[in-house]
Amino acid sequence: MALTERRFRPILDAQKCINCKLCWENCPDSAVVLKGGLVTGFDLARCKGCGICAKVCPPRIVAITMEPELKGPFCG
Ligand code: SF4
Ligand code: SF4
Repeated sequence: MALTERRFRPILDAQKCINCKLCWENCPDSAVVLKGGLVTGFDLARCKGCGICAKVCPPRIVAITMEPELKGPFCG
């Protein structure tokens, strides 16, 4: 696994997503993946973990949550 400085990663709940594409339009790193016109997830090789996608996802939807990147005994 490649080392990353990203502290959080976006997690998509596809059941909640209404495919408005706001996350895709606003991601500064073009890390939101569209397949067949549908948001399907994130390219973690590009994603910097800024959280913009989660912020722009409509509040009544909340299909993206940011989760801590590092989990384990040395990462608090
Ligand atoms: S966390 Fe930032 S870089 Fe990663 S997918 Fe969301 S908007 Fe793009
Ligand atoms: S902003 Fe939220 S609801 Fe809209 S496409 Fe992205 S994940 Fe889906």
